[in-house]
Amino acid sequence: MQASVCDIIVIGAGIAGASVAAELAETSSVVLLERETQPGYHTTGRSAALYSCIYGPPVIRGLSRASGAFFENPNSEFVSSELLKPRGLYFVARSDQAEAVEATLDELGAGVQEIALSSARLRLPLLRNEYVDRVLFEEGSADIDVDALHQHYLKLFRHRGGSLSNSTEVVEINKISRGWEVVTTNGKYQAETIVNAAGAWGDEIARLASVAPVGLVPKRRTALLVSPPEGCEVDHWPMVVDIDEKFYMKPDAGKLLISPADETPSAPCDAQPEDLDVAICVDRIEKAFDLPIRRIDHKWAGLRSFVADKCPVAGFEPGVDGFFWLVGQGGYGIQSAPALARAASSLILGRALPQDIQDEGVTEKDLSREREGLAA
Ligand SMILES: Cc1cc2nc3c(=O)[nH]c(=O)nc-3n(C[C@H](O)[C@H](O)[C@H](O)COP(=O)(O)OP(=O)(O)OC[C@H]3O[C@@H](n4cnc5c(N)ncnc54)[C@H](O)[C@@H]3O)c2cc1C
Repeated sequence: MQASVCDIIVIGAGIAGASVAAELAETSSVVLLERETQPGYHTTGRSAALYSCIYGPPVIRGLSRASGAFFENPNSEFVSSELLKPRGLYFVARSDQAEAVEATLDELGAGVQEIALSSARLRLPLLRNEYVDRVLFEEGSADIDVDALHQHYLKLFRHRGGSLSNSTEVVEINKISRGWEVVTTNGKYQAETIVNAAGAWGDEIARLASVAPVGLVPKRRTALLVSPPEGCEVDHWPMVVDIDEKFYMKPDAGKLLISPADETPSAPCDAQPEDLDVAICVDRIEKAFDLPIRRIDHKWAGLRSFVADKCPVAGFEPGVDGFFWLVGQGGYGIQSAPALARAASSLILGRALPQDIQDEGVTEKDLSREREGLAA
């Protein structure tokens, strides 16, 4: 069978692959390959959908701030409703977590304000007086409409002439004289550049291309949906995160999304919730809130994939022509996607990072495969 030829092949159509493919399709011929029948089946479809510029390491915060203008005004014929909905965020702490409260205040400065438990309870009456000692409030956090964001990029990609192939698993990658040949379960493709946006499978894709792994560790995180107590209107409640991130709770379409904020290392897979993590989640939530959990309406798990310094990798593999990494977005890959996609496409096309991203303090080196502290 003859190979299809294009400029760039993007592997993986989650938020990372879809967004960079859409950016690249403006000037290049791009093929987007996805193993599953639906893009978004893996981590992208399993997130808690939070946008918060105080969450994650500084590089992520910079990328998230640089994504803000797009979230606020996507200016796209493919977005029909708001991408962000104001939420607000409480960090809560027991009396034995005072050190973590001080460290957070030091780190985030004016980004958070301490409020009295009594006023926190006015907005979220389920907070347990005997559990919570201190509350920090951040106003700017918002819910992201993840599906609308993902669909925007997939539609923009197609509109710009890009070709998405679902049910197409990459099984072999060979170096050829002018770039790469990618062998899939659905035909062969050739291009000068391949973009590895395979999420938890990023190091597996590198192995297929005989490229050294970047040291990705997928970490399982569990989420449950439960009903609020009878008569509680939860939509205007803020998200609540334990100051040491041992649990969180967030309103979700009239229900409550709860998580034990687990980070269990896992092989890349179709992650499923484990009974023990579900039990730990229920225990932690019931201790902090007046929320007896009798029934779990829905549960799922997903893989948040990190490299050693917890920052994303967006850069060419040194010494290997045309192999570009776009992995390691960890627990922040939705909120940072608009800026990271623009950064990655600029680097792929040999351009400088967009000025607004540089202005947020993010450099090419911060994202590169060669930066210090990145385990190979
Ligand atoms: C419980 C949970 C809560 C989270 N909460 C948030 C949050 O509040 N805010 C936030 O910003 N982020 C959050 N995240 C993180 C966010 O979801 C991820 O950072 C993001 O979805 C990663 O996107 P991705 O495209 O890299 O990965 P994925 O969505 O996993 O996409 C990778 C794709 O590559 C495909 N693929 C792999 N191998 C192959 C192959 N051989 N051939 C073809 N295709 C292949 C896969 O099928 C998959 O579709 C959360 C994650 C979890 C699990």
